[in-house]
Amino acid sequence: MKTALVSGASRGIGRACACALAAGGFRVIVNYRQSRKDAESLAGRIGGEAICADVSDREAVDEMFTAAGDVDALVCNAGIAMQKLFTDTTYEDWRKIFAVNVDGAYNLIKAALPHMIHEKRGRIVLVSSVWGVHGASCEAAYSASKAALIGLTKALAKELGPSGITVNCVCPGVIDTDMNAALDSDTLAALTEDTPLCRLGTPEDVAALVRYLCSDEAGFVTGQIIGVDGGFGV
Ligand code: NAP
Repeated sequence: MKTALVSGASRGIGRACACALAAGGFRVIVNYRQSRKDAESLAGRIGGEAICADVSDREAVDEMFTAAGDVDALVCNAGIAMQKLFTDTTYEDWRKIFAVNVDGAYNLIKAALPHMIHEKRGRIVLVSSVWGVHGASCEAAYSASKAALIGLTKALAKELGPSGITVNCVCPGVIDTDMNAALDSDTLAALTEDTPLCRLGTPEDVAALVRYLCSDEAGFVTGQIIGVDGGFGV
């Protein structure tokens, strides 16, 4: 049985990805940072394993991979957002966003690659954002970090293609998760109005694409930046 590791799988999009991959036949490692109960109950439900690691901590990520065993599909989903004017964004804010969203992907991919390269096969999916493509006012740090993942996807797709490893990126639009819980109803209504499909996305909308990109069927798909945004980015 192949193993998939989903970072930030205790809640939201990551949890839906873990469920979809388990339904697709993977043994799933449910990574989390602090939501232990949620992660453990999910892992129990899908027959996987919950492992705590802050993705921004390289040693913790390496230890997680040692505990997880060989990983065939990696979903770099863990991420944090911040809404602030750029002029109010401190260097510490900037570093915090990049530490989780960008360094986290670096740490996870570095740890996953030795096995994938040895096997000459593997699937890597990075979770960016529609803001990484288009940029969001008052989310410069977040937008920049998500744009970095797009560059990383394209570069790694070229570098790892000869090793049989695919690297793709999904760019969710506005998805109904805790990350958007602080948005007021007027803002959510405006975002819905700007979405051609006239609704917010669900974690399952994103997970269906992630499941496909991790499947054998997606063997000739790499280096792609794919929106799951109800047409928001069109
Ligand atoms: P969420 O509901 O806030 O969940 C975040 C998940 O990431 C949680 O499982 C959390 O674990 C985990 N996490 C956070 N920091 C971590 C760290 N340092 N190490 C390990 N895990 C960490 O977020 P979401 O909406 O599902 O977002 C998931 C991804 O999609 C993010 O990368 C986000 O940027 C991206 N995205 C979201 C949207 C949206 O509208 N929701 C749109 C575009 C892109 P704990 O619970 O243990 O803290």
